[in-house]
Amino acid sequence: QAALEIAGLKKTYKGGFQALKGIDLQVQQGDFFALLGPNGAGKSTTIGVITSLVNKTEGKVRVFGHDIDVELDKAKSYLGLVPQEFNFNQFEAPMKILVNQAGYYGVERKVAKQRAEKYLKQLDLWEKAEQPSRNLSGGMKRRLMIARALMHEPKVLILDEPTAGVDIELRRHMWNYLRELNAQGITIILTTHYLEEAEMLCRNIAIIDKGTIVENTDMKTLLAKL
Ligand code: ADP
Ligand code: ADP
Repeated sequence: QAALEIAGLKKTYKGGFQALKGIDLQVQQGDFFALLGPNGAGKSTTIGVITSLVNKTEGKVRVFGHDIDVELDKAKSYLGLVPQEFNFNQFEAPMKILVNQAGYYGVERKVAKQRAEKYLKQLDLWEKAEQPSRNLSGGMKRRLMIARALMHEPKVLILDEPTAGVDIELRRHMWNYLRELNAQGITIILTTHYLEEAEMLCRNIAIIDKGTIVENTDMKTLLAKL
């Protein structure tokens, strides 16, 4: 089953800049998928459209068959997003941030607390659970963003440049954690401008450049070509 189907997607920003020129993509359930491309290629715009943070100009997006134009809430319930920028309230503690997030999705408070504890422990943040999150290191903040994206137990986790500015040791930890999530059945889609990162993690890959998909294949086939 397709977790994500994108057809003929175009985005022109208000100033007239065409960031996406008609892209088609399919990601199957259970996949570990990379959207690779240089800065400015349109990766964040694509993710923004999928998660309805950016309005598309044209095209179709379906999440497990649910058209985002018709069943947006349903489609969103399947998706967990880890954006590039830290966009949580830095005065709040991780536990509170996570429980509130679950609340937006209607998760019962008691369940939310248990879940938050599970993810804070898995992501090595348990000791910081009750401290203002501005005290966390950059790597911890990034892990908090992952925990937050998992709080409604999405089937698809989407990460925008998850290891940008992350040191090599933490990068390895994050890669392992993402592999574990994928092994548990969560479909993972990440954007990156490092081929190495895609190579280490992903089974399938699309390469985007100047708003166009220029390659869409499995990792092995791509590497054989290079
Ligand atoms: P990537 O994530 O691959 O670096 P983006 O999707 O962020 O690329 O950006 C694609 C292009 O669209 C870039 O040229 C960027 O400057 C432009 N862009 C992004 N957001 C906006 C916006 N809100 N208004 C106008 N142009 C934008
Ligand atoms: P939309 O068409 O999805 O409503 P907008 O064109 O309103 O998006 O842009 C969203 C925000 O991104 C605006 O606040 C805009 O100032 C900002 N922005 C503009 N140009 C860029 C750019 N090149 N890269 C990133 N963000 C940009």
